[in-house]
Amino acid sequence: MSNRKTLLKGGTIMTLAPDGAFGSTFTGDLLIDGTQIADVRPSITDAQAETIDATGCLVMPGLIDTHRHVWQTALRGVCHNETLKGYMREIRFLRAKHHRPEDIYTGNWVGMLEALNAGITTVWDFSHCINSPAHADAAIDGLVDSGARAVFGYGFNEVPLEAPGFQNLAGRIKDMQRIRQGRLASDSALVTMGVATSDLLICGLDQFKQELAAARSLGLPVSIHSNTWEFPEREPEVALMQAHGLLGSDLLFVHTNLSSDEEIRMIADSGGWISSTPETEMQMSMGPSVIGRFAAAGGRPTFGCDIISNNSGDLLTQARLALQTQRMFDNAEVLAGHRGADTVKVTTEDMLRAMTVDAATALGLERRVGTLEIGKEADVIMVRLDDVNTMPLHNAAATLLLHVHPGNIDSVYVAGRCLKRGGRLLADMTRARELIAVSHEHISSAVARDQSTLPAGYKGD
Ligand SMILES: [Zn+2]
Repeated sequence: MSNRKTLLKGGTIMTLAPDGAFGSTFTGDLLIDGTQIADVRPSITDAQAETIDATGCLVMPGLIDTHRHVWQTALRGVCHNETLKGYMREIRFLRAKHHRPEDIYTGNWVGMLEALNAGITTVWDFSHCINSPAHADAAIDGLVDSGARAVFGYGFNEVPLEAPGFQNLAGRIKDMQRIRQGRLASDSALVTMGVATSDLLICGLDQFKQELAAARSLGLPVSIHSNTWEFPEREPEVALMQAHGLLGSDLLFVHTNLSSDEEIRMIADSGGWISSTPETEMQMSMGPSVIGRFAAAGGRPTFGCDIISNNSGDLLTQARLALQTQRMFDNAEVLAGHRGADTVKVTTEDMLRAMTVDAATALGLERRVGTLEIGKEADVIMVRLDDVNTMPLHNAAATLLLHVHPGNIDSVYVAGRCLKRGGRLLADMTRARELIAVSHEHISSAVARDQSTLPAGYKGD
């Protein structure tokens, strides 16, 4: 692989590098040497390189999804009419129980293929169905086999099993350490490691502190769902963490919709990050996306697709929903004064940044990916600009944010390796279809036979 050179020739290049106007484009070439970007400029000649005709395509950094439970791929659409309570019941407490290691493998492998197909080259995989050490290994196998870049978030969430795979929290921590000291010891591999904590309100502060301490003792980045449940005894989780000195720049908060402005500022001031998943947040009564409030507090939001058990794996849809919802809120303030708005506050360029350079920084990968710069790893996508819904090019951010869908993603490279070409995934789709069918059948049958009730820890009602 290290000797392979690929020259993307004659594309519309958008580097997103700090030089020049953000989101500006030029016609030119990009040279990939092995795993890295070797050159990018108006004209490159290299007789040794395989030359790919990039005319008619936007050449840009791969998109980065900062929050997805990739294991849920075989559950597509289960939650289409569910609230958060329904999601917890149907997925977290019911279907999660019936996932075997091979189902986790299938969900992760095929789920990452879905991400790649949509131009997403990196995903923070919040893997919270680790019912045994074998589940953890299968989850990593699925990520690795896809060829995509991922942060594997080792999940501490407890699924209510009749025969638990771990005796206690210490057993889970030991297994997390096994992974960190073994196959995910490197922070420079394609799949690196993080920790996905339990929900603070479900596990309680003492356990949460132990999980966080275990992650930090190994230097692992942490992601946490927070402030999504609205019920009378709800504690403001971010404020609680602040009071106990737990906030930090290593934390990637997810949703946080019910956070007060003060809590949002606490996250921003601590250098922490937020992943917004607008589609599930809107449907599941978590409250409006916090992107406007977080930006106002000095933070830089990012996006995730969250759950394929509900919505699509198209990150552009999430950014689009957030963009127009925020504009609606901003406009409502003006309309309340019986005036029409003169400008929009949030821009397509803001959303573009959230899915590339800011997401890379949130994941600690900013030196490796997020822009097209010489020396960075070659996570590159080609987006057709000559399809019926994408021509002509007026502004690249506008086309991406408001017009492009996964069918317009022509080619995808991760660390220089081509994983989609000419609009088709370079993967064994026959095997993918077979594995998903097997998983779907197993889980559906097991759920139909399951007569169990909700666990004592269920707080949704
Ligand atoms: Zn989530």
